[in-house]
Amino acid sequence: MNDNRPVVAVVGRPNVGKSTIFNKFAGKRISIVEDTPGVTRDRIFAEVEWLNKYFTLIDTGGIEPESEDIILSQMRNQAMLAMDMAHVILFVVDGKAGMTAADKEISQLLRKTKKPVILVVNKIDNQNQYDNIYDFYELGLGTPFAISGANSMGLGDLLDEIVENFPEGLDTEYDEDVIRVAITGKPNAGKSSILNNILGEDRVIVSPIAGTTRDAIDTYLEKNDKKFLLIDTAGLRRKSKIYETVEKYSVIRAMSAVDRADVVLIVIDALEGVTEQDTKVAGIAHDEGKACVFIINKWDLIEKDNKTMGNYTKEIKEKFPFMMYAPILFVSAKTNQRINKILEMVEYVASEHSKRVSTSALNDVIGEAVMLNQPPSDKGKRLKIYYGSQTDIKPPKITLFINDKDLTHFSYQRYIENKIRENFGFEGTSIKFEYREKN
Ligand code: GDP
Ligand code: GDP
Repeated sequence: MNDNRPVVAVVGRPNVGKSTIFNKFAGKRISIVEDTPGVTRDRIFAEVEWLNKYFTLIDTGGIEPESEDIILSQMRNQAMLAMDMAHVILFVVDGKAGMTAADKEISQLLRKTKKPVILVVNKIDNQNQYDNIYDFYELGLGTPFAISGANSMGLGDLLDEIVENFPEGLDTEYDEDVIRVAITGKPNAGKSSILNNILGEDRVIVSPIAGTTRDAIDTYLEKNDKKFLLIDTAGLRRKSKIYETVEKYSVIRAMSAVDRADVVLIVIDALEGVTEQDTKVAGIAHDEGKACVFIINKWDLIEKDNKTMGNYTKEIKEKFPFMMYAPILFVSAKTNQRINKILEMVEYVASEHSKRVSTSALNDVIGEAVMLNQPPSDKGKRLKIYYGSQTDIKPPKITLFINDKDLTHFSYQRYIENKIRENFGFEGTSIKFEYREKN
């Protein structure tokens, strides 16, 4: 078994057409949800499928530079992020504007990597402009690939080229049996220590991925016949990359991991408490409908009495009111306290995340809830719920067939959600609701 998804990063100056290309490749499968406060609305990650091969695409340019003079330093950061995380790098330049000093500088950096770099000359909209590509040979990155992102010209050939450059040993298929886990949290929260303790646990079998071990981004392991993929563990092992001192870039890295995960572990330093970065990442994990677990680490450093855990739990629930469903584990990577509960919890919330309940059982619960507490009415018209059905998993989605969408109300939805949770659990995952009118 071999499961390590190829990662492709797009690098280039602002306005060369990175987002245009990204959006063409990504189609509809774009993952950053728009309502997360404090997070850039740019589309940064997407899962792309080409001829039955899956890969993750990252637009490292998703962050807009605040001023002209920092464009170059941002591009260096982009290039470093790409060289570190990606298996294949697309370096996009503007065939209309021609070569710039920044292009030259960045290609010097990119030439140092052993990873395949594809030089893409965008905005070659017709044959007449084809001559514009020759200048770019000077960058020393091989034959330039001419495309027009806007007109979708050359994109198929480019995708072929990308797929051909994937290193051996990567898995481009999707294995539904594998639980994908992201370990997030601010620097020094103890993520690497936890990771190492998990890998060192009894009964955990870690499979090095042939040919890619040194560079492997993800770690595959099995415990009690369950399969797990710990995502972007390379990022946890290799420390203090310059770009990661830029907070936005460490958030990007975390978001990329969250995007690919089924289960997100939010590791919090018990002494320090919840940080802004935790709030951001948890918000994204929630919006994207991932299963989530809070891991309160360094529990050995806390002076405890019989109320400490309860108080801490209350505090977490207050800080994340939208994530009441997420379980909390108190652990210590130093003493190994409860570290062996982590994978058990991951497996449990993953099963809740992908659980299906039958329509009849669901309607018994909804029917009883409606009887106990009538739906809201407005101007003499009352909301009627005819029936409900679970229409999706990961996260579970409940479709309610009703008389009139204008009569729906958030607080009533929450009431129904609570009733569903009382009966079916769905612990660790959000539940999405959808309404359909039916007459
Ligand atoms: P980014 O900043 O690198 O992400 O660039 P964008 O994708 O936002 O594109 C910058 C501008 O270039 C936009 O006005 C696009 O419409 C335009 N553009 C992108 N691709 C092409 C192309 O293939 N040909 C032409 N003529 N314009 C393009
Ligand atoms: P990361 O940056 O989130 O990967 O954090 P590390 O795993 O590198 O841990 C940061 C520091 O916290 C290191 O000095 C660890 O030894 C220490 N540390 C990690 N977990 C614990 C814990 O449970 N208890 C204590 N006392 N220290 C810890």
